[in-house]
Amino acid sequence: MIKKQVNSSRVPIYRDAGFELYDAETTKEAFTRETENEHEPDLYIYSRYRNPTVIAAEEEIMSLEECRWALLTESGMSAIDTAVSVFQKGKETGPWLFFSEIYGGTISYTESVLKNRRGIEIHNFSPENERYDLTAFERIMERVKPQLVYIETISNPMLIVTDAAQVIETAHRYGSRVIVDNTFATPLLWQPLSEGADLVIHSATKYFSGHGNITAGVICGNEEGLMKPAIEYRKFVGHMLSPDDAYRLNTQIRTFGLRFRQQCCNAAELCTLLKEFQQVGKIWYPGLEEHPTHPEALKLFGGRGFGGMVTFDFAGSDESRKKERRDMFIKSVSEKIKIIPSLGDPVTILMPVESVWGAKYPEPGMLRVSAGFEETGELLSVFREGLNALV
Ligand code: PLP
Repeated sequence: MIKKQVNSSRVPIYRDAGFELYDAETTKEAFTRETENEHEPDLYIYSRYRNPTVIAAEEEIMSLEECRWALLTESGMSAIDTAVSVFQKGKETGPWLFFSEIYGGTISYTESVLKNRRGIEIHNFSPENERYDLTAFERIMERVKPQLVYIETISNPMLIVTDAAQVIETAHRYGSRVIVDNTFATPLLWQPLSEGADLVIHSATKYFSGHGNITAGVICGNEEGLMKPAIEYRKFVGHMLSPDDAYRLNTQIRTFGLRFRQQCCNAAELCTLLKEFQQVGKIWYPGLEEHPTHPEALKLFGGRGFGGMVTFDFAGSDESRKKERRDMFIKSVSEKIKIIPSLGDPVTILMPVESVWGAKYPEPGMLRVSAGFEETGELLSVFREGLNALV
């Protein structure tokens, strides 16, 4: 008989679809207990319900967000779907309030799934002059009285920082629950649950996995009363992360702090470099004093950093000149810096904003940069060369 347990220091990859339940009595016991939706069951039944390798990775995230529970899902979108569904009950159809500057996929989900399929009454709250006005937020709370408020700590691509602690306080005063997508800020800058958020979600595809090779999501919380329906929803809809991906995530997440600090440092250094070039137009980075939400970033992140994302555009007399410079820059750095529609990867990557968002954002040549964790000097010299090549 082969030993089932060896002296490994890690939780291995348990690929079992179903686990051995020995006899009829144990099977009955396992299924009876299953309805209690414990985070870690005494007996595992089926990997879509709970899996030990997935739980090991969840525990790592619990220590990062300093929360009581975390549930991994097979994408950031399925984490969002699970989180909001926890608050959907019976025939209730909202209203729910979503801040407008959130990930485009989330906006499409609110329209296509929540509004058009589930009949939820969706409201949006927009910033003015690239900043959320919290007096206006208070007014919309008073008027709409939403059951749920959904925000992102740092928006994309303008990198608007929400005074999320204040949003949570206000929303709770009106009896609303609050979900925070903390993907861009990560727990290294701010832990929303510590300031009363009801649920936090991450696209773990980004900074947690950090290597552009895993698609995953996570929902974090403190209330047991929210964990149980989240486990149930994940199980019934089948949003569970695979044990293979959980194992790899659990390995890669060990370097999250080192990676993210370097990404924040590279983003800040990049801004300093960009400022030296007259070919560069405007720069959006919450660490810059001139960014409209620099005060929010200082308040919320307490000097721990300003994130690993920078957006900038090119100087030029007109739209076509700005775009020409953008294209020249992309071409000249393309050996080292690629256009990849993601973020949080090991090396710096780019996204041309207009190609994704159309004319939504004012400056035609805008580029979104996700700073990698490569050596700072190396990154700066590639950018310097690319900018010097511009005529
Ligand atoms: N939230 C944010 C802020 C994102 O940027 C993304 C994806 O880019 C998601 C959620 C969705 O995550 P995923 O692509 O892992 O489903």
